[in-house]
Amino acid sequence: MNTPAYIGRFAPTPSGYLHFGSLVAALASYLDARAVNGRWLLRMEDLDPPREVAGAQDGILRTLESYGFEWDGKLVRQSSRHDEYAALVERLLSQGLAYACTCSRKQLEGSQGIYPGTCRNLGHKIDNAAIRLRVPELVYHVNDRVQGEYRQHLGREVGDFVIRRRDGLYAYQLAVVLDDAWQGVTDVVRGADLLDSTPRQLYLQELLGLPQPRYMHVPLIIQPDGHKLGKSYRSPPLPADQATVQLIRALCALGQLLPEGARYGQPGELLQWASQHWDAARIPRSLTLAEAHLL
Ligand code: GLU
Ligand code: ZN
Repeated sequence: MNTPAYIGRFAPTPSGYLHFGSLVAALASYLDARAVNGRWLLRMEDLDPPREVAGAQDGILRTLESYGFEWDGKLVRQSSRHDEYAALVERLLSQGLAYACTCSRKQLEGSQGIYPGTCRNLGHKIDNAAIRLRVPELVYHVNDRVQGEYRQHLGREVGDFVIRRRDGLYAYQLAVVLDDAWQGVTDVVRGADLLDSTPRQLYLQELLGLPQPRYMHVPLIIQPDGHKLGKSYRSPPLPADQATVQLIRALCALGQLLPEGARYGQPGELLQWASQHWDAARIPRSLTLAEAHLL
């Protein structure tokens, strides 16, 4: 069998149930894949058991099913991939590309999330320490299919970032890069809240000699105060019995056309129609809450 030209994925974190913003991301990645007969994978990013909400994994799967999404292959859980992450962290440490950091949260206050490199050359033991990846003093940029050119100076705007936390949990940035490559993902389609993570991921890909996927960051719904509609906001879980209506709203958020009589169709039929009429060029870069209310 030939490797398909397009492999996409949806990668929810079970720290909550799916909300409207996650539906928009899932739908965009699904339609972008299906429009070109690509594969669509599902990966549960369950890296952080303390923040996992009981029942969220099941709830996410059931919601996706009742909304008509069909994924290819078996669901992958990141919790089953610890050995791979551990091996990678070991390798980066032994190559001197990563190092142990013992800074407390208090010590990092005031650096506005940009790690100042305090422990870079201190040679701390790795026990009871976070592991950080050294970043180069370089600009990384991505040509995003919706957001356009995005640039970030890793040294100045991010600093050396955590790949394994002090409590031993692996960081999203590390796992996502390794797993996207392992699963052969060619196209990352996700919410625009992750745009500023992309340069870190590009650097990791470069460091590990992994191929760089295409990126498309779809709009978040912005609250009037600038907050995104998301888990931190406790936006309500998607109602299981309103699949068609919510899918129509999500299609509108993505600027897509609707079939006549969409309201009366089954979710699966709507998804099929939408994949045949998918036009990524219609996706807006952002959406205000006021616009979202009209959906
Ligand atoms: N697990 C991440 C989230 O739910 C998404 C990761 C990704 O799509 O790269 O926000
Ligand atoms: Zn430190």
